[in-house]
Amino acid sequence: MQPQAIVLKKTTRGSQAVTSLALVLTVLAGFIASAGHRGIANHTDYAASRFFSDDLYAANDDLFLTLPLNLPSASTATGFADPAGHSPTANSAPLSAINAPGEGYGGPILLITNASYRSNPFGRYYAEILRSEGLNLFDVRDIATVGAATLNDYDVVILSETPLTSEQAQMFRAWVMAGGNLIAMRPDPQLADLLGLSEADGTLTDAYLHIHPSGPGAGLVTETVQFHGTADCYTLSGAIAVATLYADATTPTPYPAVTLHNVGGNGGQAVAFTYDLARSVVYTRQGNPVWAGDERDGREPLRSNDMFYGAKVGGLQRDWIDLNKVAIPQADEQQRLLTNLILFLNRDRKPLPRFWYFPNGHKAVVIMTGDDHGTTGTAIRFEIEKSLSPPGCSVANWECVRSTAYIYSTNSLSDTLAAAYHAEGFEIALHVNTNCANWTPAQLDWFFATQLAVWRARYPSLPPPVTERTHCIAWSDWVSHARVGLTHGIRLDTNYYFWPPEWVNDRPGMFTGSGMPMRFADLDGTIIDVYQATTQMTDESGQSYPYTIDTLLDRALGPEGYYGAFVANMHNDFPDHAGHRAIVASAQARGVPVISSRQMLEWLDGRNSSFFGDLTWSESALHFTIVVGAGASGLMAMLPTQSGVGHLSRITRAGSPVDYTLQTIKGVEYAMFLAQPGEYVADYTPDTAVPVISGCRGASAGARSERLLFANTPLPDMALGVPHRFRIE
Ligand SMILES: [Zn+2]
Repeated sequence: MQPQAIVLKKTTRGSQAVTSLALVLTVLAGFIASAGHRGIANHTDYAASRFFSDDLYAANDDLFLTLPLNLPSASTATGFADPAGHSPTANSAPLSAINAPGEGYGGPILLITNASYRSNPFGRYYAEILRSEGLNLFDVRDIATVGAATLNDYDVVILSETPLTSEQAQMFRAWVMAGGNLIAMRPDPQLADLLGLSEADGTLTDAYLHIHPSGPGAGLVTETVQFHGTADCYTLSGAIAVATLYADATTPTPYPAVTLHNVGGNGGQAVAFTYDLARSVVYTRQGNPVWAGDERDGREPLRSNDMFYGAKVGGLQRDWIDLNKVAIPQADEQQRLLTNLILFLNRDRKPLPRFWYFPNGHKAVVIMTGDDHGTTGTAIRFEIEKSLSPPGCSVANWECVRSTAYIYSTNSLSDTLAAAYHAEGFEIALHVNTNCANWTPAQLDWFFATQLAVWRARYPSLPPPVTERTHCIAWSDWVSHARVGLTHGIRLDTNYYFWPPEWVNDRPGMFTGSGMPMRFADLDGTIIDVYQATTQMTDESGQSYPYTIDTLLDRALGPEGYYGAFVANMHNDFPDHAGHRAIVASAQARGVPVISSRQMLEWLDGRNSSFFGDLTWSESALHFTIVVGAGASGLMAMLPTQSGVGHLSRITRAGSPVDYTLQTIKGVEYAMFLAQPGEYVADYTPDTAVPVISGCRGASAGARSERLLFANTPLPDMALGVPHRFRIE
């Protein structure tokens, strides 16, 4: 069963008048072991988490409780059991261990796309979003192959933006009514009733939203953030707003951006994003596609930043990134809202494990790079980095200071020395030179081909380059560079570059709205198997050091939780470099690794080919396996400590206890532990110390709304984002 909204109102003792303070709780109903299936439980435990923060809970307050759910008749509890109606069969092992963009490893989450819907081809990008969020427990299916029986194999369905036939709309309606958890992206209006929304006139494009800082939004950014693409205007008609649309950074609208609706008596829930999160994330990260190929900053050649730059001479528009928001990883925070919602919706069925972003629990990483234009600087830089590394450090554990040199194919560094540095964990890769000019895809392909041929002849002892930055960061259109690079083996791209100086204006931040390397998407929706690792720090953008790195890292490690892998380009032409030394010192002072692009690529591929399998829930225990991909050394798993029936009490692997630490990440408390391969069991202990709400005897079963007075009920520990449990007898 699923969370149900209840409203708790503070009253004055002895009076029926309630204050205006209202609180929406979510109630998670459990199951009776002996009952075997839902609906015949004669006793229910409820866990609730507060959505809206009001200081309601003085210990002796009288409270009204409105329960829009099927109240059981009063009886006694005997325990909880597997919600047998929920099939675990979807959690089968993957058919393939290939880390294919746009595909999943299977699991309780189903992403539904529609390849024939050309107006929005970005549906598959949710696979990349889920992977980035460490939720490697999903399948991807085209809606043409989805029937009612398909849905029954899954706990949570993410429906990408698509029009629906009336039959399809009815299929989703029936599934949610039966208890399913639906997240609909920019939904077909036919689903409005299911989503608890009423259509309103109008749309909002490239505007803002505010995530409510409670419930699924707890712990996320509290300022308004931008979205790109178009949101449809709805009003609430039974749903709860999780986020609200803003016309600009400060002006709210009456319309929700994200909503949550409890549906029917079987615990179904339906979430709407009134804009398409996937399109928004792609556009936020990669820029305004309309500006692709437009020389907006007036500084040739075309670069990625032209797609973010508003103040074109003769064509003034707003910047694509509101630089007042550049500190915020705006796209990442919206992805995390999706993550929180998935976990929230599924809490009653089973807690869902995730992987942490970086190895060994690191919240920030510096990807150090230096372009080298034919100097002898690279060897000197590497020697400096060796001298800055702690004695006995492990390259594999990211303890040593390592970096990438992007060098011309004509560099004077010898093959022998290059091979030696490679063996020590440094990366030497190609700085493709387009003569600092715009290119056509065919020309770029020729530059790659010819310069890589020279490279291979010069550096036969080095592996072929797998990461890249192009001279002058020439980027002539939307994404051809990534496509062309991929055909030459490039898998991680650092060409997105926070520049020019007067635009950056010494503001530390993430102009692509993200600290996470994620794959590029083309405008036809194709996910290109190349990671975009944006260079947010350079030595030619007028940025101050250590101010820039200190600020980025403090926000990553501090209460904001703006985690990230921050790429720096500190040119190797100037090997003993104040900016480089400042960044390394800042990172080391904070325990943040300094690594090469290749190290990050190996990590990303390893993490993304790791997955949870065989996820089943029974007897208050979550069973799962972890497969760890090659290169994912230090992979950390995260398990929510709160389930629908109680709190995590123990994790074992192959029967042996697993050590874990507790961390609250974006409002959700997790047990974090080293993800070693094997079979795991996580035991959750039903909480026997829940507050007892008496006085509901006589409540009519099936009532939509019961007002229950319960006096002197202590409701302790109502921290935001923490589920709370009540027993109703
Ligand atoms: Zn260059």
